[in-house]
Amino acid sequence: MKADIHSHSSNSDGTWNVKKLLEEAERLELECYAVTDHDNLEGSIQALNFSSVFSGILIPGMEVSTKVDGRTVHLLAFFPKIGHDEIPDVHEVLDKVKNSRYHRMEKMVEKGIENGFKITMEEIHMEVTKDGSSADIIARPHLARVLVQKGYAGDMDEAFDKYLSEGKLLYVERFTLNYMEWIKLVHKNSGIVVWAHPLFYQEEDVELLRKSFDLLYREGIDGIEIVYPYNKRRGKLDLNYIEEGQSFLQQKIEENKLLWTSGGDFHGDNGILGFAEIDDEMVERLLRKIGIHYR
Ligand SMILES: [Zn+2]
Ligand SMILES: [Zn+2]
Repeated sequence: MKADIHSHSSNSDGTWNVKKLLEEAERLELECYAVTDHDNLEGSIQALNFSSVFSGILIPGMEVSTKVDGRTVHLLAFFPKIGHDEIPDVHEVLDKVKNSRYHRMEKMVEKGIENGFKITMEEIHMEVTKDGSSADIIARPHLARVLVQKGYAGDMDEAFDKYLSEGKLLYVERFTLNYMEWIKLVHKNSGIVVWAHPLFYQEEDVELLRKSFDLLYREGIDGIEIVYPYNKRRGKLDLNYIEEGQSFLQQKIEENKLLWTSGGDFHGDNGILGFAEIDDEMVERLLRKIGIHYR
């Protein structure tokens, strides 16, 4: 079926609000869709209120960033229940991440000012709250957009390449969740964990990809996002690496009977909405695993 279960709203660093996303998902005739904002579940909570807008299956989800063996790994989590009163221990951990993002941004803006950039935290706040539905998750794309608006970079890619990526002029580290603790916490709350865009951040090295997989698998990861528009997003990957990496992951999925998913990682100004297909049987397995009734 047509299914895209990885996308971002203005509750994190996407530029569209949840209603607009759902209207577009409906227009594209998606049968299964998920809003998976960074570090918060507000987008998914809001989506449930717009069930009259979208007629397909809506899976509540989100995305977090962790480090595995020193390399960045993004993990999607899908839950059967997401309300603030329903999974308090998850929300508690997410609050901690949100605070650390705020302080990190303060430091990045400070660094910018020290380096002669005319930028302020107010401008970042305006970006964050622009679409009226923000959960106040502050992320680097917000600063990137300010840098582009002010002419310090030609586009988002350049803002990251020149200033915001790890090791670049304005980059500042932030607290990241421990992946082992996060996977345990999601499972404890009857959720599942899917490795998002696994080919990113592994230094385009299949050996490192294998290492990361082994560590994640040992902790009980449930699935892998296998259908992903790698070369339509930031930082193009080598085609041979994509081919080799994908076939390694396919093999692991089959060997271990893992779930696989597809996602366009839509942010409004990058990624794609409506990407692509998941087997009906796979969607059914995924929903069964989180205890959502299928049709
Ligand atoms: Zn991601
Ligand atoms: Zn994402």
